[in-house]
Amino acid sequence: MKNIRFLDLKEINEPIIGEIKSAFEEVLASGWYVLGEKLNLFEKNLAEKLSTNFLEEGYCVGCNSGTDAIVLSLLAGGVKSGDEVITVSHTAIPTISAIISIGAKPIFVDINSKTWVMNTEELEILISEKTKAIVCVHLYGNMVDVFKVKSLLKKIKREDILIIEDVAQAQGASWGEQQAGTIGDFGAFSFYPSKNIGALGDGGAVFTKNREYYTKLKQYRFYGQEDRYNAVVMNGINSRLDEVQAAILDVKLKYLSQWNEQKNILMNCYRTELKDLPVKFQEITGVAIPAWHLCVIEVNNINRDCFVSKLNNMGLQTLIHYPIPTHLQKAFSNYNTDKLPVTEKIAGRIVSLPFNHIMTEENVKEISRIIKSVF
Ligand SMILES: *Cc1c(COP(=O)(O)O)cnc(C)c1O
Repeated sequence: MKNIRFLDLKEINEPIIGEIKSAFEEVLASGWYVLGEKLNLFEKNLAEKLSTNFLEEGYCVGCNSGTDAIVLSLLAGGVKSGDEVITVSHTAIPTISAIISIGAKPIFVDINSKTWVMNTEELEILISEKTKAIVCVHLYGNMVDVFKVKSLLKKIKREDILIIEDVAQAQGASWGEQQAGTIGDFGAFSFYPSKNIGALGDGGAVFTKNREYYTKLKQYRFYGQEDRYNAVVMNGINSRLDEVQAAILDVKLKYLSQWNEQKNILMNCYRTELKDLPVKFQEITGVAIPAWHLCVIEVNNINRDCFVSKLNNMGLQTLIHYPIPTHLQKAFSNYNTDKLPVTEKIAGRIVSLPFNHIMTEENVKEISRIIKSVF
């Protein structure tokens, strides 16, 4: 039997290999490798793509990774050591590492049992005098209702609390007229190789509509300097999106909608194929139009680990995003928290299936046949 891998990055890049090579060669020949024209162009194109549906101008700042995109947002927003930042435990570890790296304290909120993203109903009780920011994680491509978070902050007169959207897994998703990453104060994007658009290495970007934040973001990513000789903020870092990655990402940005559309077709196909099984899919939040990054199922009536190993024996590779919730990670044990029952339950039942824009509906049907045979 042939093996079906979870993801093959070489295959993903194959269809546009010519464009990637010429992007690389242009940068090589230019002799300019950081903070140059390619980055300016990519930042401009990304900002334009994100700003299409509203009149205010938006700005993008490229950086080294999605993790740094969150760190830079926290720094530019003035979050300090000892401040509290509310977010979900059911997310990739870097969401939490970013918060802790600037000395802030993560406060964990549970997820909704159907949408698997932040349960906004449970937010208010966690807000304290020390709360400085809320990180809304748009997980697997589905969105948090950021408008609801905004109206809560307005209701309780705490509009001083920053909203950072972690868009690492949902680039291209939208809510009504607005795109994910443009609703809060900051949108943090990741170009980790497997994300909706992936670099050939690391990369990230922050979106903001606020000019002051924009200026700060550029200073913080550039050692704290405002220009070649003047340092103006104290705890700056070095976090750039280099020219080679920016040029490659600019090629990929043109394909983003097309790739997201194909993944939407595949997601619907999985949902149809598996509808008679005791598996659940992530429910879409409100009026969100997701940009699926992962196809995750919740398996019931069967032990998850046993299910996964049976699939593996049949040549089907799957992954789990994520098996250990962040609030139960050894490294974060200082930030002990109450139980998060939904997070803990979901973490024990989810499985991520092979899912990428170069797959076909035939591939999905073949994978679905294997899954059906296990049940
Ligand atoms: C990938 C990811 C990040 C971190 O991005 P990097 O580019 O790997 O640093 C942060 N949050 C979420 C939800 C992610 O999936």
